[in-house]
Amino acid sequence: MPEILKDQKCPICGEKSLSLTEDEREVPFFGRMYMFSMNCEKCKYHKADVEAVEDKEPCKFTLDITSEKDMHIRVVRSSQAVVKVPYVTTIEPGPGSSGYVTNVEGVLNRIKHQIEVLKETEEEDDARKKAKNLLKKINRIMSGEEPSKLIIEDPSGNSAIISEKAVKGKLVGVKKEEE
Ligand SMILES: [Zn+2]
Repeated sequence: MPEILKDQKCPICGEKSLSLTEDEREVPFFGRMYMFSMNCEKCKYHKADVEAVEDKEPCKFTLDITSEKDMHIRVVRSSQAVVKVPYVTTIEPGPGSSGYVTNVEGVLNRIKHQIEVLKETEEEDDARKKAKNLLKKINRIMSGEEPSKLIIEDPSGNSAIISEKAVKGKLVGVKKEEE
């Protein structure tokens, strides 16, 4: 059962209107994980993260996405992970990053959402067209029409792509991926 602490002080607005939720969960083929989330009722600040109970080595996972079925593959993404879909996007971790347990579809939907927001706010025609083409590309990847890759690099080791298809490697320094 999750443990919920109410009326905590919010790090953003300073009001005592923050709920802190802590939970522990077993993720098959990964192990036990702590899951945290913070939600402020006043300023709507939200932050979530995941952390493996046991110590993990820095890691890099590469998954070839070749069919619609791959959308169901489980993904653990900590707030410190870099997520890459070559020729589509690279998501770098930052202070606003959250960690979560999802699947490949969930990761691609988040990327889609970011590009949609960009498309709406972009003023240049060229940039809007580029965003539109990227959205089409992601749709083709999600329906299995276009092969792609999902790469997750995590210096904290708290991330994983849980599939026999995923290749796990060591994360050496800050080596750049060929894109
Ligand atoms: Zn707040």
